[in-house]
Amino acid sequence: MTDADRGTRPSRLRELSRSLVLTELARSGALSQASLVRSTGLSRATVASIAADLRAEGRLAVIQGTEPGGRGRPPALLQLCSGTDAVVGVDFGHSHLTVAVADLAGTILDEERVPIDVHGSPDDALDAAASMVATLLDRARVGQAPAHVVMGVPGPVDLRTGRLRSGTVLPTWEGLDAGSELSRRIGCAVTVENDANLGAVGEHRFGAGRGVDHLIFVKVSTGIGAGMLLGGKLYRGSRGTAGEIGHVQVRDDGALCRCGSRGCLETVSSAGAALALLSPAHGRTMTVDDLVALAAGGDPGTLRLLTDMGTAIGRVIAAVAANLDPELVIIGGTVATDALVAGIRAAVHRYTQPYVSAEMTVVRGALGERASLLGAIALAIAAVATA
Ligand SMILES: [Zn+2]
Repeated sequence: MTDADRGTRPSRLRELSRSLVLTELARSGALSQASLVRSTGLSRATVASIAADLRAEGRLAVIQGTEPGGRGRPPALLQLCSGTDAVVGVDFGHSHLTVAVADLAGTILDEERVPIDVHGSPDDALDAAASMVATLLDRARVGQAPAHVVMGVPGPVDLRTGRLRSGTVLPTWEGLDAGSELSRRIGCAVTVENDANLGAVGEHRFGAGRGVDHLIFVKVSTGIGAGMLLGGKLYRGSRGTAGEIGHVQVRDDGALCRCGSRGCLETVSSAGAALALLSPAHGRTMTVDDLVALAAGGDPGTLRLLTDMGTAIGRVIAAVAANLDPELVIIGGTVATDALVAGIRAAVHRYTQPYVSAEMTVVRGALGERASLLGAIALAIAAVATA
């Protein structure tokens, strides 16, 4: 064990134990100390010590009541104090999970990002999200029950059922009611939203789209999707699938797409498509970080590839822009390099009418990979304001 381990391990263990206690109380409403020991698996002494701390912080109340199925003399139950001005944003990506806690002014109180296994079980990922939410709320010293939670997912969400539709880049999540699943774990209502939609909201509230009410946000990462803000409002379509531009066909005889079609924009211009071309050229398996580093270093082949990808994306955006007449197109996602944005900008201007392109700007997002997370925070704040 290193000196650093000696210094951090007890506090990390304590943090995890607090998180377990808080999660159980949020899920169950009120529990006796004995029930908390059983449900968390922690020792009686640990639960008693954590409960004492939380009571001293004014976050835990002791009430008299009966647990579900309880008999005999009512035990003293522990219950979290309600009422908080905090909101939570959760962003699931193809390979990461990010959680942030903010106050109602939009100030981020705490934020954390961890990798997830894209092919792993949704249960494990949602358990991890619930644990992170509890830990961050605890670290930010706010009440356990946030005023609202918004969760972003990388794929279309059916407006009628809240379930993920086919086309998500998290294959094991298709058909999942992720909002209910997370809500059950953290004891609070959760709204689920497509990540590109959240990117549009995030850039509008905090980033490159401030003050612009007609904008298109295009996320170019593992998949490609667009979020559209029209007249200051998010446009989701009749079923929630508006903006799925990654599955517009751009090659009649192109590669098979995971959606079942072939020649989709995603098969030409996504991170996966880029890496499939770049890896053989460099004789090793390349990552998105490699791609971005090569572009920043001016590698000619990478710049050519990104420009071509931008051209294909720009042609599709041009068709969307011709219909919607936006003021601003914002490019985000992991592949949003200068070369890609320049390729998109050139194609959008080339393939739209001069009167459309003359007053329409194409820019790189200001929030980077945090656009969807900050959009989740913005939507959560808006939900509280209109409640
Ligand atoms: Zn497709």
